[in-house]
Amino acid sequence: MPPSKGLPTRLIHTAEGAQPDAAPLTTPIYETTTFLFDSTADVQAYIDGTSGKYLYSRYDNPSTRALEAKLASAEQAEAAMVFGSGMGAISGTLLGLLSAGDEVLCSAAIYGGTFHLLQSFLPRLGITARLLDLDDLRDPTASIGPRTRVVWFESPINPTLRCLDIARLAAACRAAGVLSVVDNTFATPYNQQPLSLGVDLVMHSVTKYLNGHSDVTAGAVMGSQALIERLLPARKLLGAMLDPMAASLVARGLKTLDVRMERHNANALGLARAIEGEARLSRVLYPGLRSHPDHAIAAGQMRGFGGMITIELPGGLDAAGRFFDRIAVFKRATSLGGVESLAGLPVLTSQYGWSDEQLARADVTPGMVRLSVGIETLEDLIADVDQALG
Ligand SMILES: *Cc1c(COP(=O)(O)O)cnc(C)c1O
Repeated sequence: MPPSKGLPTRLIHTAEGAQPDAAPLTTPIYETTTFLFDSTADVQAYIDGTSGKYLYSRYDNPSTRALEAKLASAEQAEAAMVFGSGMGAISGTLLGLLSAGDEVLCSAAIYGGTFHLLQSFLPRLGITARLLDLDDLRDPTASIGPRTRVVWFESPINPTLRCLDIARLAAACRAAGVLSVVDNTFATPYNQQPLSLGVDLVMHSVTKYLNGHSDVTAGAVMGSQALIERLLPARKLLGAMLDPMAASLVARGLKTLDVRMERHNANALGLARAIEGEARLSRVLYPGLRSHPDHAIAAGQMRGFGGMITIELPGGLDAAGRFFDRIAVFKRATSLGGVESLAGLPVLTSQYGWSDEQLARADVTPGMVRLSVGIETLEDLIADVDQALG
């Protein structure tokens, strides 16, 4: 016999029965789009900023806020803001800080997405970029113009792993009254803490090491409360918020950041040392090697040298492609920073579509293979590179 009326309303009102006193060990996942108010006065208190309640998950959510507290402490920052991806964090930062007529200085060697945003997208809104060679970026004082508002840089730089003296660069920016922002994705806060070196904002593709398990796309920016607050309208209005479920996964990944980074550092250093001087390679680029042009700078500001190595084969893209086709323990995939070792060809991925001149300025060559060294057994990784060299 069919039920005489509909099913009980409590099946729909899922918050009913929630137990605020349950005291869970881990942060619950607040997978809700919206939040309840008790009364008109309660809504008014939210608007006045005196209630501590939440309104709507595109604005803010307890799961993302809990993650922000962890991310802020990882970089020893006053505040952090999460985004739905690293590019969300980059565009949120630039659109949050800049207006038409403003200029960004950045390295000619920079993450591909940042490059395209600055080179072809933001100019449509009147925000322009000037690309500097590494030597000019070391002390940008002479390059800073009346419209310059931000100096954006990376260290180590993808994929050459060149490094910049962060304290020197930050001091020059501060003296000139412009903001310095560093993309700290490759180093991670385990290896390098740029805020303590004087940088204004640190940005991360959380997709990479901070999450560490290749299963979430996320981004974050850390810095002073005042600067982070300036990014909020961009996140809200451009809709670049992170999902609560994804925030919870990142918070879980973060718990093992230091043990993972110890292993990434040790594996990459071990592999780089094992293949340095290898006759079948023209270059092994790793900041932890004495042969790296910026080893002294890296040693002065990094605890470990990270998990990224770039090798160069003498036979150009043909040779790099043969290596890429033979590699087996390393998986053929773009991205980096996960527990799994990955191999990528920069000219076909992160630097795809760059002109010969742009590639030359960034010192990126067709014979390069970028290795994201994971946490597998080091001997297996060394043997894999050896067999792939043929
Ligand atoms: C991957 C990456 C980004 C972009 O991050 P997404 O999470 O892919 O949007 C930015 N900077 C660097 C250095 C990266 O490696």
